[in-house]
Amino acid sequence: MAYRWPAGTVCKRIELDVEERSCPVCDRDMHVCDHRYHHLWTLAGPTQVVNRLVRCPDPTCDSRGQTFSPAAELSISMPRWCMGWDVLCWLGHRRFARHWSVPQLRAELQDTYAIRLSDDAIASYLDRYQTMLAARQQEPERLADDYRDMASLVLTIDGLQPEKGHETLYVVRELRRKRVWFAEPLLSSATPEVQRVIALARQWAERLDKPVGVWMSDKQDAFGQAIGTEFPTPPHRYCHTHFLRDVAKPVLELDSQTKVKMRRKVRGLRTIERRVLEDRRHIVAFEPAPAPGPPPADEPPRVDIPEAAAPEACVRRDLGVGPPPNALDTTAGAVTAAPAVKDEAGEVVLGYCAAVRGMLNDDQGGPLHPPGVRMSEALQEVRESLERNLQAQKGGVQSRC
Ligand SMILES: [Zn+2]
Repeated sequence: MAYRWPAGTVCKRIELDVEERSCPVCDRDMHVCDHRYHHLWTLAGPTQVVNRLVRCPDPTCDSRGQTFSPAAELSISMPRWCMGWDVLCWLGHRRFARHWSVPQLRAELQDTYAIRLSDDAIASYLDRYQTMLAARQQEPERLADDYRDMASLVLTIDGLQPEKGHETLYVVRELRRKRVWFAEPLLSSATPEVQRVIALARQWAERLDKPVGVWMSDKQDAFGQAIGTEFPTPPHRYCHTHFLRDVAKPVLELDSQTKVKMRRKVRGLRTIERRVLEDRRHIVAFEPAPAPGPPPADEPPRVDIPEAAAPEACVRRDLGVGPPPNALDTTAGAVTAAPAVKDEAGEVVLGYCAAVRGMLNDDQGGPLHPPGVRMSEALQEVRESLERNLQAQKGGVQSRC
């Protein structure tokens, strides 16, 4: 790939000589016949590698016409690349281990190392990195090393769709070593297509010379047939995650209906909040003096909680979820941004409203902790908290949440 160097680039020069100067055929001292220049980016800056090429001086030698170049060049970079291995590794590690985007990589290379590369060039080098990485991962000797102490294998296959509308990627993984063995994009999930992938897995297992103890999948028909044909003996189990998800399906449907019912019952938050805000406006309108006067007749009875933040503490306690972290703060902020009124009771009411709204909008949770159950637990805590406050007010004791 031709790289256009910025005008005025000053390169650091590295000169390389062949490691063995004597002719491999006649053992004569070889002469320098030419130079090959390679310009590339390293993390140390623009670099010019000068390779001194040599050949045998004897025109009758069998090595005639052959030029020898320094092997050390390959330890700096590949021929014709515009970057050294150090830059390639820097890019690959940040892209694949830290998930940096290409524009982010480009900007960081420019800012930190003053290396100027286009997005296209970075993408192209990342492709090479990925190819090398995959080759390394799949290298038979490495794999054999990794599985030396394993008595048997546990293989799984699943189809993933990286993006909607794309072909499905069938991934074969081995669970004991937690390794992705390989992935194949298939245009259809027909049995012959899938069988090709399973046959490949059989070749891998044979090459490792290890028995497959068990296969696991979501047991779609094509998997069942293909695995049955290629691996007639090992059992084929249902994958735990898929199993749990399928078993939980009716439960999650009921849970979702319950959530709808709870939402229908707990409503009118907006009305309550509006009332608090309106009351405040009245206070400001009728009491311009900073000294607090008696509350207006229609104000709800004061809840005697020392700090406005108290409900936040009790509502959120141990829920692990509750309202989104700043639901309360947002409301409180919006309110206090309005005329500064000392309205502790109003703050408490708004705090409760924000917390409850967070609970009603919370959709987190999976089959083992359905969202409806979480919602009901959280609402129950709010009810108990309110009860405690009412009791405290009746008994004249300060509430403890
Ligand atoms: Zn020679």
